[in-house]
Amino acid sequence: MLMSSHDSKLCGPSTAEEQLYQERGFNQIASLIEESQSIAICAHTSPDGDALGSVLGLSRIIKQRWPHAKVASLLADDAPVPRIYQFLPGADELVCAPRYVENPDLFIAVDLSEKHRLNLAQAVCDRAKRVAIIDHHPTEHPFSNVAVIRPNAAAVGVLIAEFALQMGAQITQDVAQNLMCAVVTDTGRFQYQNADAESFRIASLLVDKGASPSEISLNVYQSFRLSFLHLKSLVLGRITTFEQGRIAYSYATQNDLERTGADLDECDGLIDVVRSVSGSEVALFLKKVPGGKVRGNLRSKGEHDVSSVARLMGGGGHRAAAGFTYEGDVDEALAAVLPHLRKLFRPTADQEQSRG
Ligand code: 5GP
Ligand code: MN
Repeated sequence: MLMSSHDSKLCGPSTAEEQLYQERGFNQIASLIEESQSIAICAHTSPDGDALGSVLGLSRIIKQRWPHAKVASLLADDAPVPRIYQFLPGADELVCAPRYVENPDLFIAVDLSEKHRLNLAQAVCDRAKRVAIIDHHPTEHPFSNVAVIRPNAAAVGVLIAEFALQMGAQITQDVAQNLMCAVVTDTGRFQYQNADAESFRIASLLVDKGASPSEISLNVYQSFRLSFLHLKSLVLGRITTFEQGRIAYSYATQNDLERTGADLDECDGLIDVVRSVSGSEVALFLKKVPGGKVRGNLRSKGEHDVSSVARLMGGGGHRAAAGFTYEGDVDEALAAVLPHLRKLFRPTADQEQSRG
């Protein structure tokens, strides 16, 4: 038999300490799976490629490795799978949380560590006998004891692939495609700061197992509806900069969506348009969402930690990619967040002011 060129020992965290933490955590999660008849897996509200790919990949791995368990893949919102992710193998098996009526033995949260990010699936989590988390968001107080949380993992898809390797589960083509989508999208096609050697090693393994980067690219990055492109042109036309070009900003209103016919979930990539401005170091995109709220996406291209700003706005995320929700209009949200962003570039402004 041909040996695979990918040894599981080559794929994993870079330090021995992290390796130990991850192995122990995965073994604990495996024990919980072993003891469970019913398992529900769910990612965060407004799911992205990492969220969906990780849920679908993990559910297939569990079904294959622990065939006794009944596994449900849940969506945190009462909304369909975003169009660009409907090609993922098993996407049609996803169930909106309110339609899942069981009390699962085990609830596995992926790509989130704060309970409120489960939105409607919080109720399922509360009904579960046990809860585990597999995530890569920095967090001080995860809502479960059994957890593997590695903020330096590029995507949760990387962690799920390493879980499969540790458990000796087969990485089928369908699993590989889901996990590859997770890694491709969370690293911005291997362009963001988190695109590290570990993510490339896992990507190489996944392609070896049959993942198709071109199919992912076609569906996620080259299948825009004309209505979305019209919205994108509005957003492009409005890009404004602050702090000598170091902050780039744009927005979309409810009216823009109505005028162009674009959907809210299509707006996810618009922050990338804003961050592409030459000379910008942080980027902000605001969009009006139902319920009188505004969603904010923040990105940092360098040293600045935008998660600190997101947290001040009641949200969270990573140093280089974070988000928040604000009650009010786009103008009000901008007025609230801009001073915090400016402070990233003038950390001593307050002290100078107080000195007079
Ligand atoms: P995005 O801007 O793409 O929605 O999110 C960027 C990153 O920040 C993602 O990793 C996402 O999970 C995290 N994030 C976005 N919004 C929130 C939020 O409201 N709270 C927390 N804790 N994290 C968020
Ligand atoms: Mn993620």
